[in-house]
Amino acid sequence: MEKKELSAPFIGIVRHRLATDGKGVTTLAAFHNCPLRCKYCLNPHCLDPKMVWRNITTSELLDELLLDNLYFLATGGGVTFGGGEPLLRSEFIEEFCRIKPAQWKVNIETSLNVDRSHLERVMPHVDQYMIDIKDTNPTIYKEYTSRDNKQVLDNLRWLLAHEGMAEKILVRLPHIPEHNTQADVDRSRAMLEKMGVKHFDEFDYIVAED
Ligand code: SF4
Repeated sequence: MEKKELSAPFIGIVRHRLATDGKGVTTLAAFHNCPLRCKYCLNPHCLDPKMVWRNITTSELLDELLLDNLYFLATGGGVTFGGGEPLLRSEFIEEFCRIKPAQWKVNIETSLNVDRSHLERVMPHVDQYMIDIKDTNPTIYKEYTSRDNKQVLDNLRWLLAHEGMAEKILVRLPHIPEHNTQADVDRSRAMLEKMGVKHFDEFDYIVAED
């Protein structure tokens, strides 16, 4: 029997991004659903089942992205999978990577708070990981996301154990109003440097006023 093509729910596709999430021109393909429940969620519609924008198959996504093939090839860009949590859709990403043009780069924006099997599946295809670590302190992490961060740190250690991986990883370290302090961020950074992380993006969450 012929294998059925995979599809996945998305919250949107954003084209022509430059130097925001990976090298060159990229297109963000944002999946619905996330295992975390951050207090200041940037994309709350990815948590609401009624807010799925479209279900898209791998070949439909390829058709959408081919519109920007020339930009990708000229700038060394490609696709960035975000969300939500893209690694929950690792099978879709793996299948998509098998049919996409080989020159396109593949970037992943992830919290890494997923089962290891998802990471194993996509690792051969990924050029850059942008990892939103929140805070390494388990108490702060749990209070902010409602989840444990043991899996996050285990997955990061596992990734870093692969040769050359540190160059593919950018760790995002947010200053989260009312949840961590500069001292907490400094502690996270020191711990992550010890683990082998080399590239950081430290920034402030801007919380919208009600
Ligand atoms: S990881 Fe991102 S999408 Fe998921 S709950 Fe947190 S802010 Fe929202």
